[in-house]
Parts: sequence; C-alpha cells; structure tokens
Amino acid sequence: MKIINLKLSNLKLSNLKLSNLNQNNQKQHNLKKGNLYNIFSKIFNLHIAKTLIFCLLFIIIPKTWAAKLAIVIDDFGYRQHNEEQIIALSPNITIAVLPHAPNAVKMANLAHNHGNDILIHLPMAPISRQPLEVNTLFPWMSEDQIDKIISEAVERVPYAVGVNNHMGSLMTADLTAMSYVMKALSRYDLFFLDSKTVGGTKAKQAAEMYHIPLVTRDVFLDNLQIESEINHQFDLAINLARKKGYAIAIGHPHSATIQTLKKRLANLPDDIELIKVQQLIQPKVEQ
Ligand SMILES: [Zn+2]
Repeated sequence: MKIINLKLSNLKLSNLKLSNLNQNNQKQHNLKKGNLYNIFSKIFNLHIAKTLIFCLLFIIIPKTWAAKLAIVIDDFGYRQHNEEQIIALSPNITIAVLPHAPNAVKMANLAHNHGNDILIHLPMAPISRQPLEVNTLFPWMSEDQIDKIISEAVERVPYAVGVNNHMGSLMTADLTAMSYVMKALSRYDLFFLDSKTVGGTKAKQAAEMYHIPLVTRDVFLDNLQIESEINHQFDLAINLARKKGYAIAIGHPHSATIQTLKKRLANLPDDIELIKVQQLIQPKVEQ
C-alpha cells in the first residue's frame, strides 16, 4: 500500500514538473513570438512610413515642378451661354470683361462666384478699321480723358485684379499714351497683361515708369476658329510653358474654343498646371 502511495506521489511530482516545463516552454515560445511580432510590426510600420513619404513626394513634386499654363478668355459680356460654359471649365481660367458690354457686371459676378479671376478688358484703338467698343482709348486723348475712361472701367467691372487690352495695335504702340494709362492704373492695385496685339508695344516700358506689374501674352489660341488650329496653338502654349516655366494663352468665347478647351483641359499632361495669370505676378515694387 505504501509502495503504491509512493508511486502515486512520484507520479504527481513528475506531472507537476512536466506541467512547469510546459509552462516555461510556452512562455519562451510566447516570448519568441512577441519578439518576432515586434520585429515584423517595426518592419511593417517602416514600410508604411516609406510608402507614405513616397506617395507624398509623388503628389507634391509634380505640383512644384509643373510648368504653368495660364489661359485668359477675352471679350466677356456679350455671349452669356458660351461664357457660362467657359466659366464651368475651370476656376483657374482668367476672365476678361469688356466694361461696356451689356452683361459685364452679371458675368463678372458669375465668374467671381465660381472662383475665377476677373480682368478689365480695356478697349484700345487698333490700326485697322473695326467696330469699336464705347470708350475705346486713342493715342491722341489727353491724360485727363484717359484717366476718366479708366476710372469708369474700374467702376464697371467688379472684382477686377488686373487689366488687359482689347485690340490696341495703335494705342499700345504709343509710349506717351500708354504712360497715361499706367499712371491712371497706378491709383489701383491692378496688374497689366499686355495682349501684345502689335510687335512694337510700349506697354512694358510705360508700366515700368509707374511700377505696374506686367506680364505678356505668349499665344493666341483662336485667331482661326477651327478645332485643329486651336489644338495646334494649345500645343504651342504647352511647349512654351515647358521651355520657360510658364506660358500665357489668350482665347475668346467661340464654340470651337470651348469644345477644344473642354477636351484639352480634361487631359492636361501631368507636368502642366493650369494657373491664374495673377499667380505669375510678382509683388508690386513700391517707389
Ligand atoms: Zn478683346
């Protein structure tokens, strides 16, 4: 009986030892599992961090390095249906409003509410005989006359951030007349976009006299209202933007221009960023 009891207690002891051993093994196993888990999670977290940084760079870098393309659509205020379609294309398209057009205020408001920048599309005399806008500026006008027309234009076009010339091959070639224009503009916080309707434009020279920030048009999109031609001009603007970092293209609210822009802006290359003209303006240098 004693022997049986002894054997039983031995058996209990060995069972106890075995269970202790098993517990230790489990602990060690768990410890190993924990270490592996930590290592894997560290590697995994590092991998996620690396992927996130890569993605961020992928998003940020092209925006910083992208060539900038500014598109201005002139002659707003006459064709509401077409003009609404232009505004709907992108808030980054800059809208130039003719001060005496019947829908000038309405279109400036609509465009501004959509987030588009507004320019005063200031009528200036051309060399050739063409139907002219009310209050077209002529080189023979006095300083006072020019100042009065400009202050009226500023009043008529709400939210304007700048001015560009409508026509003007005669007016912009005259340094004295353009200096009157820039003097009048110096009273406002407006930049000047030279539509460059004539090779010998004096706008830049006159703008420098009054420290008016000035940029110049690079490409006219729709001198010919044919989609293939507008596409060609759009390509020119893109190539120029890639070469010099930016390009300014001017178009009009023609149906062919709207159809072309619709397609081209929906498929803008990754290295081209559509921007507002104002984004190309350096801060004004005070006298
Ligand atoms: Zn125009």
